[in-house]
Amino acid sequence: MRNLLVFFMAAAFLPLAGCERLSRQPAPFGGGATVPSQSAFALNTVNTITLYDEGYPHIYHAVFARLHELEGKLSMFDADSYVSRINAAAGVEAVQVHPDVFYVIERAVFYAEISGGAFDPTIAPLTMLWGITGDAPRVPSQQEIDGLLPLVNWRNIELDPETQSVFLREHGMAIDLGAIAKGYAADEVAAVIRRAGVPRAMIDLGGNVLLVGAIEEGRPWRIGLQSPFGERGAFFGILQTEETSVVTSGVNERYFTAGGIHYHHIFSPFSGRPAESGLLSVTIITGVSMDADALSTSAFVLGQERGRAFIEGINGAQAIFVTEDMSVYLTSGLTAGVDFILIDSSFRLAN
Ligand code: ADP
Ligand code: MG
Repeated sequence: MRNLLVFFMAAAFLPLAGCERLSRQPAPFGGGATVPSQSAFALNTVNTITLYDEGYPHIYHAVFARLHELEGKLSMFDADSYVSRINAAAGVEAVQVHPDVFYVIERAVFYAEISGGAFDPTIAPLTMLWGITGDAPRVPSQQEIDGLLPLVNWRNIELDPETQSVFLREHGMAIDLGAIAKGYAADEVAAVIRRAGVPRAMIDLGGNVLLVGAIEEGRPWRIGLQSPFGERGAFFGILQTEETSVVTSGVNERYFTAGGIHYHHIFSPFSGRPAESGLLSVTIITGVSMDADALSTSAFVLGQERGRAFIEGINGAQAIFVTEDMSVYLTSGLTAGVDFILIDSSFRLAN
């Protein structure tokens, strides 16, 4: 039985810097065989692309070129990116951007609106205050948090489709696309792969997974879902699915501890602190990876009850919630034992 299961690690952590690395992934038919894959660091994470079957060096090249190009446009840490230019001009002037950037910001605003502000791309002043994506994170004072909270408000993003320009109304405002950019990048990488005619591929941008094609005729893909505890590659369950995107937001993706307290990187735009919604992780399954990415962050902030109701209302989206009391909740479109198989007995299926 074990050999029949194909487990994929949701982003192996490798200390890479900018270069592409060759590695091998488990072959779709098991038996210990492997297929080539390539990894590179971009968008602040390790990205692993697996094009099944051999012989696609030029496609890998095109894929990583697109990935680095998007990083250069969307990263708030790259001073030349459009996002950095928008942030630098906050309260001063509108900035004309590339269509890629306009589109991602437009979608980010859409998700902010439908999530009631749980998802908010103007979270940047807070993520910077906490230093959550940098080397020296810290717990700020309540006064510091209160001072920045008024700047976190997606309604103060002004979008002009005519001129493709973006204006942040308040001085000190800034946007952080960290909760949606990887999803968009995955969709764009998939477009490159499909255009090239590759029949099956797995795109894994730091745990943001997008499947292309069918892994094997008549059989689903089997994706290991990262346990909110334990090492990378420790799975609590397996998702069996057709071609789709699978994206998880969780407390163990990026975090620091101070005074014995665990601080993770998904913030409540309301409290200005890491969201304490009673969740350990949320996995979203939906066709478009950008949607899955934005929805996973939104649902994490909303919590199990409100998050589940929110996802149930979105056509074509399913979700798996893991709560602090070790319960696993599935949205109504997923069947336990068929679509989702629990493999870690320290968790229990709650519905
Ligand atoms: P991951 O990066 O692990 O896939 P997410 O997609 O949930 O996880 O993105 C988390 C990142 O998004 C944070 O590092 C931060 O940059 C940004 N972020 C944090 N909280 C929010 C929020 N409430 N709305 C929008 N972006 C957020
Ligand atoms: Mg996200």
